[in-house]
Amino acid sequence: MAYDKNNIFFKIIHKEVPSEIIIEGKYFIVIKDIKPKASVHVLVIPKGEYTDYGDFIERASSEEIFDFNKGIQLAIEKLQLKKGGYRLISNCGDFGEQEVPHMHVHVLGNG
Ligand code: 5GP
Repeated sequence: MAYDKNNIFFKIIHKEVPSEIIIEGKYFIVIKDIKPKASVHVLVIPKGEYTDYGDFIERASSEEIFDFNKGIQLAIEKLQLKKGGYRLISNCGDFGEQEVPHMHVHVLGNG
């Protein structure tokens, strides 16, 4: 699947659409999910144009992949999820029922 810039996360990354940004790094942003499924529900989104997890791992640079994963850990620390535990989810393909075709990882917890 080719990357299509006409998606909501592309617009959020480029500040064309507002969002509640929790952390912004060189290669990623962390935003609050608009329809939270837990008391803490954020999305870690790479700034680069990748459709899903596999596309990101195959095409992103080592620096982007490292920075993105550090971003997940920074979110876990900032939202104080270490003690109570958390879920990391990346939906992909038919089974995953991915809604937004720009790579992202959900972080869910009780905070
Ligand atoms: P997925 O693509 O992994 O199925 O889910 C996309 C997620 O993005 C959903 O949990 C949905 O609530 C969230 N989402 C969709 N549109 C927006 C938006 O405009 N702003 C924010 N902050 N989250 C959104």
